[in-house]
Amino acid sequence: MRFRRAEALILDVQPLGDADRIVAFLTREAGSLRGVARGARRRYSRHAGQLQLLSKVDLQWLEREGRELARVTSVELLRPADGFLGTLEGLLTASYLAESVRAFAPEGEPQELLYRLLDTTVEALLAGTGPGLATRYFEVWLLRLAGVFPFPSPCPVCGAELAGGARLVGGGESLVCAACGGPGGETVPPEALRFLAAAARLPLPRMAAEGFTAAALAAVERLATAVRRHFLQQELRSYQVMARTLQGA
Ligand SMILES: [Zn+2]
Repeated sequence: MRFRRAEALILDVQPLGDADRIVAFLTREAGSLRGVARGARRRYSRHAGQLQLLSKVDLQWLEREGRELARVTSVELLRPADGFLGTLEGLLTASYLAESVRAFAPEGEPQELLYRLLDTTVEALLAGTGPGLATRYFEVWLLRLAGVFPFPSPCPVCGAELAGGARLVGGGESLVCAACGGPGGETVPPEALRFLAAAARLPLPRMAAEGFTAAALAAVERLATAVRRHFLQQELRSYQVMARTLQGA
């Protein structure tokens, strides 16, 4: 048995029996983990307010040899996320960000960069960055950190610059120029390429000033979705719910 303590972001909270909860969380040092918080469902539990999606907490847990689930022993709230969980779009966005991290972060591996990405994304959302912009930025970086995203560079086939538009080929593995891409593959318009180039060099809070249109963000979303789906070989449930709900809204 080993006691551990870290700053963590809450990724999921599920009921367990009458009184307990299973909590999924992300830390820098120990990556993505799950643990049982005893008594967390009781009305006066000191854990109750802290265990909210994407809240940042100071978390202590007990690792147990041979057990998949840790034992959460203490949770102190550092930064609540309810500033943006109050709207439907905020809640859907939070579920999608959290499920994305769970899908891309194997349990128990250090996740310094992914932690920073999620932490700064939540920070920006709380500061008023639009959920659409924040989500597109987050998903292209998530894919880049996972090593599956083709950030724009000259066409790998002919060496031409891609600024005039590109095609996604190889089921989501590379971006080539329109001439080399042929008729198949996802078309990536210049505005989406400009977004990718800006995301590669700017922190999220500075992206808003770049003036990306809804059409540009939609093109980035189509691109990221195609790449993610190819990589995971399935779609994330929270993404389906979010896309369906926001389309209907
Ligand atoms: Zn080319």
